[in-house]
Amino acid sequence: MKKLIIITLLFATSTVFAQKINLERIEPPNWWVDMKNKTVQLLVYGENISLTDVSVVSDKVKLQKIHKVENPNYLFLDVEVLPDAKAGSFDIVFSKGLTIIKHKYELKEKTDRSRGFSSADLIYLLMPDRFANGNPSNDNPQGILEKTNRNNPDGIHGGDIQGVINHLDYIKNLGITALWLNPTLENNNSAYSYHGYAITNFYKTDLRSGTNEDYKRLSDELHKREMKLIMDMIFNHCSSNHWWMKDLPMKDWANTNPDYRSNFRGSTIADIHASKDDQKRMTQGWFDSRMPDLNQHNPYLATYLIQNSIWWIEYADLDGIRMDTQPYPFKNFMSAWAKQIHDEYPDFTLLGETWLQKPAFTAYFSGNSPISGNYNSYLNSITDFPLYYATRDAFNQNDGWTDGLSSIYYILAQDFLYENANNNVIFLDNHDLNRYFTSVGEDVNKLKMGLAFLLTSRGIPMLYYGTEILTTGHEHKGHGHIRTDFPGGWKDDKINAFTKEGHTKEQNEIFNYIKTIADWRKTNKAVTEGKLLHFVPENNVYVYFRHTDNEAVMVLLNNHNSQKRIVDCKRFNEILKDYSKGKNILTDEIIDISKTITINKKSALIIELEK
Ligand code: CA
Repeated sequence: MKKLIIITLLFATSTVFAQKINLERIEPPNWWVDMKNKTVQLLVYGENISLTDVSVVSDKVKLQKIHKVENPNYLFLDVEVLPDAKAGSFDIVFSKGLTIIKHKYELKEKTDRSRGFSSADLIYLLMPDRFANGNPSNDNPQGILEKTNRNNPDGIHGGDIQGVINHLDYIKNLGITALWLNPTLENNNSAYSYHGYAITNFYKTDLRSGTNEDYKRLSDELHKREMKLIMDMIFNHCSSNHWWMKDLPMKDWANTNPDYRSNFRGSTIADIHASKDDQKRMTQGWFDSRMPDLNQHNPYLATYLIQNSIWWIEYADLDGIRMDTQPYPFKNFMSAWAKQIHDEYPDFTLLGETWLQKPAFTAYFSGNSPISGNYNSYLNSITDFPLYYATRDAFNQNDGWTDGLSSIYYILAQDFLYENANNNVIFLDNHDLNRYFTSVGEDVNKLKMGLAFLLTSRGIPMLYYGTEILTTGHEHKGHGHIRTDFPGGWKDDKINAFTKEGHTKEQNEIFNYIKTIADWRKTNKAVTEGKLLHFVPENNVYVYFRHTDNEAVMVLLNNHNSQKRIVDCKRFNEILKDYSKGKNILTDEIIDISKTITINKKSALIIELEK
């Protein structure tokens, strides 16, 4: 925050009845020149600030409109940055009688580069408090309510942005190309403040994670390594400790009744039979007892949130945003948000968290959805929860008409519901779900099948931190149990799983399994961009191909618990006819594809086809 220059001339006679005036904050704290949208709306907060006259000292910046609202402690200023404005700062002057407050507002140079992530990437999701403590001196900053306690699974453990930076080479070495951190904005709450989803300041990194400058440094360090940064944002709610909750600008800024809870039914937004009451509960009910529901129908809040995204894209040089709880805010606002981001950054990737069980619902929220009628979310990507549920259960089940491998087959068979399902983010688990290794009963063979599928199916694969070292955890024991500390992230840890030497034999096997497929994946357009061709599962084997016009990959999954399968290649002639042999990408072994392919029990085979 810029220093305030306050010039107050005091006269004994005039101050007796004068109202106290101060300026506490202006948000966004700075802006940029050369933006396509020339107008920015500043939220100004301070005691009685609306009683002042406001002016702007610049011939390249125009104060278009001053909005006074219900609460005299707020002003909203529409500021136009003219096309020929240069980077630099100008004064915004607030005056009332003899009180004059000058605030230096900075306009920075815009970064011009291509952004976005795609199915060519492999995303790694990590919870910053639980990954590595790179800076123990920020564990208990002054003024932060919850103190560090590593013995409490739901407490603050001290991991931070510096810890992530320290281990970027480890992450890159695993084959990762993009990083999604759970939210790092300030969560100054007395409990459960480690997860980041109850924001108390939309413009400030939580001091336990680091500073805004640290977050930008993380972005720079990623870009140096040709990796990408995806920021986690939440527009549905904030924390009841958010600074504005004590003094709301307007009564309708937030829905303030904590007893009015969401029904968590995203279905009601797409459902043509839904009652208004159910839809209202979904969009206006509180997500949690400590998370007030924000009212994005308030145009000032809507602008505030959209500008907040743009601010972080520019400030931290982001490649993508993962929007939490996508179906919970008003859908037309979410659409306006995505559209305005894309107007400014056409190649930026917006991913919406759509935690819904059925493909029709997730497809409804996807961009240019063929099934959402007049509604367009303008999202690039959604989280493919239906495919998650299928991959969670498939390898534990016996194959049947709809069970086992068929459950995966049937989800993919519904891809006509999407404009392009290859943009869906796919995953085996995340920070809200049982660890995948736990879901498959700690069976390494099943884990490998899941990983092989994740890295070769259509979509943008996402890996949750610790999967590579066989981390376990049951969601029902509490979220802290699925967000455990990465071993070696703390100085006194007995095991350092960031090194090969710190791995067990099994951990090394899985680490290398992921790395081998991920590194190979980067070189193969068929598997990242190609079409999917699949064959109905038969005799416990599911066979699919990823292919472009001149490249193809064949994947076989044998779900039988005890028997190998000998698969007749004739059935796949429509694609195999163009290829003469194949190579097992994990072993480099040449595979004859002319007659039959043998696949071991409970295993996956990834074959790169050759002409
Ligand atoms: Ca720390």
